[in-house]
Amino acid sequence: MEQESIIHVNTDPTAIMPTVNARCAHDVASLPSRTDVAIIGGGVAGLISAIALARQGLQVVVAEKKSYPRDKVCGACLNANALDTLAKLNLLHLLDELQAPTLTQVQIQCGSRTVRLPLPHGRAITRREFDLALANEARRCGVTIAENTTASLEELRPDQNLRCVKIQGSQQVHHMEAAIVLVAAGLSGVREGSQPWPAQVTPRSKIGIGLSLTCQTHNIAPNTIHLCVRENGYLGLVQAEQGVLNLAAAVDSDLLKQSKSFGIWVHETLAKYQLHIDYPFEEAEWRGTPTLTRKVLRPYGQRWLAIGDSAGYVEPFTGEGMAWAMAGGNLAAHVVSSHLKHWSTKHEEEWGTIYRKMIRHRQLSCRTLSWLLQNSFRSRLAIEAAAWFPGIGSWLIHGINQQAQPATIDVAPSKA
Ligand SMILES: Cc1cc2nc3c(=O)[nH]c(=O)nc-3n(C[C@H](O)[C@H](O)[C@H](O)COP(=O)(O)OP(=O)(O)OC[C@H]3O[C@@H](n4cnc5c(N)ncnc54)[C@H](O)[C@@H]3O)c2cc1C
Repeated sequence: MEQESIIHVNTDPTAIMPTVNARCAHDVASLPSRTDVAIIGGGVAGLISAIALARQGLQVVVAEKKSYPRDKVCGACLNANALDTLAKLNLLHLLDELQAPTLTQVQIQCGSRTVRLPLPHGRAITRREFDLALANEARRCGVTIAENTTASLEELRPDQNLRCVKIQGSQQVHHMEAAIVLVAAGLSGVREGSQPWPAQVTPRSKIGIGLSLTCQTHNIAPNTIHLCVRENGYLGLVQAEQGVLNLAAAVDSDLLKQSKSFGIWVHETLAKYQLHIDYPFEEAEWRGTPTLTRKVLRPYGQRWLAIGDSAGYVEPFTGEGMAWAMAGGNLAAHVVSSHLKHWSTKHEEEWGTIYRKMIRHRQLSCRTLSWLLQNSFRSRLAIEAAAWFPGIGSWLIHGINQQAQPATIDVAPSKA
């Protein structure tokens, strides 16, 4: 399963079926034949970069496989870092308009232990509402968004100044040329001609499942990320906008072999930690992701840069995925708008260096957490340590919430 899909419950793992979107695709024939920047994927990374680039006066086209509003597997938590990027772009008002609750603590339950750690700052918002608001904002800035279209990287034009992009609508195919392409297609990445996306999945990596719902909850505390840890995965719950409850979990990819459905696993997990939610989880339509933790060998190529999950990903914890995606999208927009006129392969290589610098420290915190939670003995030991020495937990939370863009980032000036 290389794309996010709806998982029909009470079936065996081979029955994971992709969603068929019945809405009409964008009329691709109306798209321009040439643009400054083409963006493949309209998630948070793609939309943030589109907004930032359009505000710099560049012509931007986004190709998005689904149509908004659309659900997405995500914990719905924006951390301090993500809020910082939104503030830089003057977009925090979107969260106020959507009435996204603030988050002040994370409550981790593991075995018989419960640990509560304060969060520096955070907000909860479902991806259905957040991505729709960002897409509307991008359109207001002049971005063209082609919904229900699938794009791929095609060849470089012979003079090497433009990259071709193939945009597939429901009936037609459109070929567009772009000075730069940003690949923001999430975990799956895209094909470059006949080449698969250059990603290496980490062994024993988990998959993501998720659901947003409106229902009665009894002891889900507001302003709190609830993290329930079990031997084969962990489940995060948060109250998002307008009383919507968001659930997201990272679970072993062979969980379905042990449990009849994700719904049963979630039900058991909630019961284990005495969290009461009146909802028939066994009958729900869970969304699922491909395997999560992956390294991308080279997040750039001739006239393309990868951003967000397409540039690499580590399992989620308290809201770092969107923070990386948005910081990366904003930074890529800065690199592209500053150097577009005199673009060279040097800028692509620089993107690789900048990106690694940007995410190295925060990925270390997530990899540490991921390693601890891989095994029940280690996770119990970690939770005991965090209960006795809260500084340890705070150190990890601080690492995850650290500034996305180190002050040392240096993009060499273009030669005029
Ligand atoms: C279980 C789980 C919980 C998580 N919890 C959190 C959390 O609480 N907070 C947080 O910050 N992060 C969380 N994350 C991580 C977060 O969801 C991702 O890091 C984030 O969505 C990455 O954004 P993106 O824009 O790179 O990719 P995406 O949001 O995945 O967007 C990619 C977009 O590209 C589109 N697309 C794909 N291929 C193509 C194509 N060929 N052509 C056109 N369009 C295409 C897709 O339809 C999609 O809309 C969680 C992830 C999981 C799995």
